[in-house]
Amino acid sequence: MLVAGSANADFVVRAAHIPAPGETVMGGDLSIVPGGKGANQAVAAARAGGCCTTMLLALGDDASGAILERSLSDAGVEARVVRSARATGAALITVSDTAENAITVAPGANATLLPEHLPDLAGIDWLVLQLETPIATVTAYAQAARAAGVKVMLNVAPAQAVPDALLSAVDVLVANEEELAVLVGSDGSILDRLSRLPVPLGIVTLGARGSCALAGGDAIFQPAFLVQAIDTTAAGDTFCGALAAALAQGAAPEDALRSASAAAALATTAAGAQASIPTQADVARLLA
Ligand code: ATP
Repeated sequence: MLVAGSANADFVVRAAHIPAPGETVMGGDLSIVPGGKGANQAVAAARAGGCCTTMLLALGDDASGAILERSLSDAGVEARVVRSARATGAALITVSDTAENAITVAPGANATLLPEHLPDLAGIDWLVLQLETPIATVTAYAQAARAAGVKVMLNVAPAQAVPDALLSAVDVLVANEEELAVLVGSDGSILDRLSRLPVPLGIVTLGARGSCALAGGDAIFQPAFLVQAIDTTAAGDTFCGALAAALAQGAAPEDALRSASAAAALATTAAGAQASIPTQADVARLLA
């Protein structure tokens, strides 16, 4: 499996409240942790037992890039790094005492991932994409994969309009409710809205309410697993990575949805992005 997409260093500070415009707030200690939708999904796929997970990403030649490469390698992901003249992507995150957050992303190197960086797809069965890298690049990768007979999963996050040229090259689309609304509007039931997507398998995640899919006309509803959630960061990314790993191993959509939901539920029981992503053994215990 190849995951192509973003990697960000998350610079996280806890503070009593999110600063208002013009305000300075004294916070706690800074923590710098690996994140970014692409890297989170690659780690989730590898921890879910995704055979030979490779990630294509662009990093700056800096300390954040080194942290991100180490995190991928620790998770067993083979990183194919495009070295960029721009700084490694960064997310500046303030978390308040009431668990609200405010995030500013500096895409940096992620914006320099280009169509010509896609490696030869020989031996790749699945390509997993998100929307934190340029849409022209994501579209070119999906089209190249389609032409090579490689299955394409697209997580349409962060929410934005997607060109038909990209949608028509997608086999599995994963959206949350907000992202689905940007693609097909908010009218009708969730199944109606999923049916407007021109993809064989469309999935919407509904937070603590679970997830719903339309697989070739068949509706699937997967309730969320009941856990003590403390931090939902990367729940969606864990869901996507685990889903891709299960589908790549030949699981039926309902079984893949179940293991993705279990992995995502466990990710909410620990703090952080990549640090909170469970292993296959943890997921197997929850599913037992
Ligand atoms: P994020 O951007 O926070 O990563 P998202 O909006 O992309 O999340 P969600 O729909 O919030 O994605 O969550 C993805 C999946 O994670 C859900 O479909 C569900 O299976 C699981 N999940 C999320 N929150 C909870 C929770 N509180 N308890 C159990 N499972 C959860």
